Amino acid sequence: MNKQIRKTYQFKLYQSKKLSSLHDQVNVSGIIWNHCIALHKRYYRLFGKSLNVYQLQKHITKLKKHEKHAFWKLVPSQAIQDITSRVDKAYAKFFDDLKRKQRTSPPKFKAVRRYKSFTLKQAGWKLDSNILTIGKRSFKLFLSRELKGTVKTVTIKRNSLGEFFVYFSVIEDASQSIFKSGKSAGLDFGLKTFLTVSDGSEIHSPEFFKTNLGLIQQASRGLSSKKKGSNNRVKARLHLARVHDKTLNQRKDFFFKQAKELTQKFDYISIEDLNVSAMSKLWGRKISDLAFSEFVHILESQGQKYFCEITKVGRFYPSSKICFECGNVNKELRLEQRTWTCPGCNSLLHRDKNASLNLDREGERVRTLTHKGDETAA
Ligand SMILES: [Zn+2]
Repeated sequence: MNKQIRKTYQFKLYQSKKLSSLHDQVNVSGIIWNHCIALHKRYYRLFGKSLNVYQLQKHITKLKKHEKHAFWKLVPSQAIQDITSRVDKAYAKFFDDLKRKQRTSPPKFKAVRRYKSFTLKQAGWKLDSNILTIGKRSFKLFLSRELKGTVKTVTIKRNSLGEFFVYFSVIEDASQSIFKSGKSAGLDFGLKTFLTVSDGSEIHSPEFFKTNLGLIQQASRGLSSKKKGSNNRVKARLHLARVHDKTLNQRKDFFFKQAKELTQKFDYISIEDLNVSAMSKLWGRKISDLAFSEFVHILESQGQKYFCEITKVGRFYPSSKICFECGNVNKELRLEQRTWTCPGCNSLLHRDKNASLNLDREGERVRTLTHKGDETAA
C-alpha cells in the first residue's frame, strides 16, 4: 500500500532582535499584496477585463527592479509568486461568484500591520537542525519534534502578540510505518480520571490545567481592574491573551501526545458518542475544561493517520451500568459510585474500567455489523 500523508508542523521562533527582519518581510509582503490589488483595479478600469497571473507576475518583477521599490527585494521571489497567485485566486473566486450571482466583494486592500504571513516553496530557505535560514538570515526555532517527510511549503506567520511561527507543510510516505496489531480498546472519559483504557491503563489530566485555570482567572481579574483606554489595560489584555494561549497550546499538545500513542498502539478504539452539552449541564463547567470533544476530534485525526478505526458507541448504550462479566444491567447505579458489586454475579466492578471494557466489546459488535453492511453493499 502506498499512502501519502499531508501534515503541517508548527514551530515557534525564538524571540530575538533578528526577528525585526521578519517583521519587515511580512510588512513588505503586505505592501506587495496591496500593490497587486491596485494593479488589478487599474487594469480593470482601463481595459474592462481582469489581469491574469502571468501579467501580474511580470509587472511585479518589473517594478521590483525600479529604484523606488528596491525594498521589495527583502521578500524572496517565491514569496512574491505566492502573493500574486493568491491575489489571482481571490479574483478568480470573485468573478466566479459574480457569474453565479452570489453575494460577493472584490479582494481588499489590507492594513500592513495586520498582514500576517509569507510563504516559500522549495527555495529561499534552509533548515539545519533547529536553525532556519531565510535568505541570508538565520533564526532559531523551538524544534519540539522531528520533522519527517518532504517539505512542500514553508510559511512564516506572526500573531497579534508579534511572535513568529513557522509552518512546514510536508508530504510523508506512510506505507512503511504501518504495522497492524489487530488490538482493540475501549476508552471511558471521566472527571476523576481523564481516560480509562480497557487494557487497564489510566490517563490523568495533567496538573498544569488546574494551575493555569487559576492564572487565567487572576489575569482576567487584573484586566477588569484596569482603567479603560489606559496603557496598563493594554498590557493586562496582552497578558491574559498570553496565559490563555499557553493553556490552550499545552492542552492541545497533551491531547496530541495521548491520541498519537493510543492510535499507534491499537487498531480499533471504541468511545462513547458523547453528548457534551448534556454532560456540561450535569457536571458543570469542569467538563468543558477537559474539552472532550476537542480530544475526540484529535483522536479521529490521529486515527486516520495511523490507520486506527475509531468507533462511536451510541449515546444510550449504558456502558457504566452493564456488568462486563455477566451482562446484568444495574439500573440503580449512581454517579458517585466508583465501584459496585454486581447483584447478578457478585463481581466487584470498578466503574470506569468496567465501562471501558463494555465499550470495547460493544464497539466490536458495531464494527462487525457495519463491516457486514459494507460487504453486502459492495
Ligand atoms: Zn455480573
